[in-house]
Amino acid sequence: MREEVRWFAERMEEVLRENDHRGGWKDMSALELFSCFLGEVYELDSALWHGDGDVVKECCDVANYAMMIADKVRRKKRVVDEGREDGDQFLRCSFCGKPSAEVEYLVAGPNVYICNTCVRVCQAIVDEERMKKDV
Ligand SMILES: [Zn+2]
Repeated sequence: MREEVRWFAERMEEVLRENDHRGGWKDMSALELFSCFLGEVYELDSALWHGDGDVVKECCDVANYAMMIADKVRRKKRVVDEGREDGDQFLRCSFCGKPSAEVEYLVAGPNVYICNTCVRVCQAIVDEERMKKDV
């Protein structure tokens, strides 16, 4: 393992231990974790550009949520085809093109499908546009 990866993994573990009192991530869904991940990305942004916080710690928070999501996916792959009882294996997200087997959720609309990741990306875009409007 590279020296810098080992160093960073140790920092990630330290930050995880500081947050152990919050309980594990096993009860959180990948969607909830992704939402937290996005929140940490904004905190990292703030630490980097406004000196508002510890950059290394914020990097660890971002990486830890990414790790938790990867851990969830590794442990449990689920496909939810809303409105599709037959569970067609060849369904794909209409936005990113990923097949249903490679995403956690695939939500069906009339002749379109969207995966959980693309839902979050869309939400982040809408949130950002709203924030711009408010300024
Ligand atoms: Zn997608």
